[in-house]
Amino acid sequence: MLDSRLLSRRWKAHTAWVFHFVRSLRTRQRSILRPLAALLVITSFFAAHAADNPPWLVQTRANYTLHYSAADQTQVAEYESFLAKGIAANEAFFGSTYPKQFDIYIYQDRASLDTDLQKVIHEPNYKSPCWLQAIGDSEGVHLLSPLRWDVETCEGRYTTYADKQKTQKLITHELTHVFHGQTIRDHSPDRMKDISWFEEGLAVYVAGQLGPFEIHDVQAALQAHNVPGGLHGIATSDSILLRYSMMGSLAMYIDRTYGRAKLKGLLQLDSQKEILSSLGVTELQFMDGWKHFMLNSAGMSR
Ligand SMILES: [Zn+2]
Repeated sequence: MLDSRLLSRRWKAHTAWVFHFVRSLRTRQRSILRPLAALLVITSFFAAHAADNPPWLVQTRANYTLHYSAADQTQVAEYESFLAKGIAANEAFFGSTYPKQFDIYIYQDRASLDTDLQKVIHEPNYKSPCWLQAIGDSEGVHLLSPLRWDVETCEGRYTTYADKQKTQKLITHELTHVFHGQTIRDHSPDRMKDISWFEEGLAVYVAGQLGPFEIHDVQAALQAHNVPGGLHGIATSDSILLRYSMMGSLAMYIDRTYGRAKLKGLLQLDSQKEILSSLGVTELQFMDGWKHFMLNSAGMSR
């Protein structure tokens, strides 16, 4: 899930992750996937370019520094509530605090987000995909102002700001990427690409985005033998909704089968080979175990 155009710039190795769901994929699946891939690797340019944006208002908290514009001032208390709950959810899940401080940038509009992206990739006409709402990486979370979601995101977006539950999950998901990015041994793009199924699946699972509906989708795909044969195949499968659900269920399978301590131990590993070795299985054995777990509804109860 890495974009070669971005990788070729040989930036300092910071990886960003994009979370999204695309609902209307019927005919334009591939054309939507392309811009998805185009934003998956971004350096920690936000800190470097923060001064270029309209005047930031800054608040420093225990875990993070919040950067936002006057346009979001009235919403900051609510944003911080989402952030506090997301941080608490992640720390409760992993049983430890965030390793490092991080930054939260809230862009007042897509243009200001894109302005930074354009500088990073040296493409003055670059525009972020219309469904993009947030990016999380080891350095922090970069958020298009939720006030702009109704105006500046297309129907492929994951949620509206009005849906507070989904907004919370989106932010918690990005904060999982932060925790993971701060824990993994090497978060350079090629390493993250190798474990993208685990990285995204973990964020989906921790954020509570794998519900009964999503589990049912995975089970139906398994019963129809409509699931890629390998982990990289899952991470790059065409159906984005199903892809995220499958990846989330892989993380759930690890958690329920091997335990939270084992799952947490995997966070520092930066290769699929190491993850599977740590679990003591081959890829085929892991896939078989996951399928059995999912089809026998072991994942349904908690
Ligand atoms: Zn994600």
